Amino acid sequence: MLLGIETTCDETGAGIVELCPDKKFGQRLKIRANVLASQIPLHAPYFGVVPELASRAHLENIHRVVAAAFKQSGLAPLHAIAYAQGPGLKGALLVGESVARALALALDIPAIGVHHLEAHLCSVLFEYPEVRPPFLGLIVSGGHTDLIYVERWGKYRVLGRTLDDACGEAFDKFSKMLRLGYPGGPIVDRLARSGDAGKIRFPRPLLEGSWNFSFSGLKTSALYRLRDYGQPKTARARADLAAAFQEAVCETLVFKSKKALRNFNLKTMVVSGGAAANSRLRELLLKSAVNEGFRVYFPSPAICTDNGAMIAAAGALRLAVGALLKGGAVEHAVPCARQSRKAVLCEDTGHGAVDPSLPFPSW
Ligand code: ADP
Ligand code: MG
Repeated sequence: MLLGIETTCDETGAGIVELCPDKKFGQRLKIRANVLASQIPLHAPYFGVVPELASRAHLENIHRVVAAAFKQSGLAPLHAIAYAQGPGLKGALLVGESVARALALALDIPAIGVHHLEAHLCSVLFEYPEVRPPFLGLIVSGGHTDLIYVERWGKYRVLGRTLDDACGEAFDKFSKMLRLGYPGGPIVDRLARSGDAGKIRFPRPLLEGSWNFSFSGLKTSALYRLRDYGQPKTARARADLAAAFQEAVCETLVFKSKKALRNFNLKTMVVSGGAAANSRLRELLLKSAVNEGFRVYFPSPAICTDNGAMIAAAGALRLAVGALLKGGAVEHAVPCARQSRKAVLCEDTGHGAVDPSLPFPSW
């Protein structure tokens, strides 16, 4: 049983995850609790996350979020505590790490620092334990747009990432330009459903010859359009604009993903992060999967967005004497409570408690 603590950005999350025996997969990860305190109302007036406000809100929320997760799990005894070690907002990360380490020390169990993006990839295992590397990972959120070649669990090659705005951030900024609200992704997604994406053509920032992404030019293009034509006058015009913008973002993501699948001869893809909830992205990728013969997995939206359960899943992956995920299936779990104090005390960056064959990802 692992507790996972997430405080990288604007969600305070605590999740409790159990390794359960499973007839088909040997063992699998099950969510016993997943509690989230979102800070959306706090940041909404600024149309983006304000780091100082985020840290303070984490500090205010973390204890009740962790307590609620314990309660939801039926007060299950813990074997380890995983926390998001990075990447993320420095002040926000400190809150999660301090609470995780203090709790681990008090309970005499290991504290494991995990990589936030590795956790996003692991989130697929709750609902789709059949997913096995190698696969292509696409992480799209407010802070990240990363295309990752997962050779095996623990071995990742970052093919490309955004050079400027992240995909979710582009939606948020576009929404701000149209004064639609925050976070922009779900609002633009909803609005675009009644729009015609073909009425306006925004550029597709494809960056030929590179796996990287860039969305700031697209954002500027939308800004110039508003400067030249003004705010859309009708609901219909607003929906068309939203659909055209969304199409440009999604087509770019799909184009690069399909190219990477072909290039690396991969047949499986996992999409995670808050923007993986986008309905057009799902539609385009699912259609391509059928037409081009690959499988695409989207964890459900509550698991895609930042949450504590995915951090616990990455902790399970990284436990040196605990759970090891091999080839995608959870193969064995060894109780590790007795090793714990040493693990906690010798750990300075979270490496002390992890399997040395799983280097902390450097992306
Ligand atoms: P972060 O790590 O930045 O907190 P999250 O995983 O919490 O990221 O995701 C939040 C981001 O996802 C926001 O930028 C939001 O606009 C975007 N998002 C959420 N739902 C959608 C959607 N349906 N379409 C596009 N973007 C979305
Ligand atoms: Mg968030």
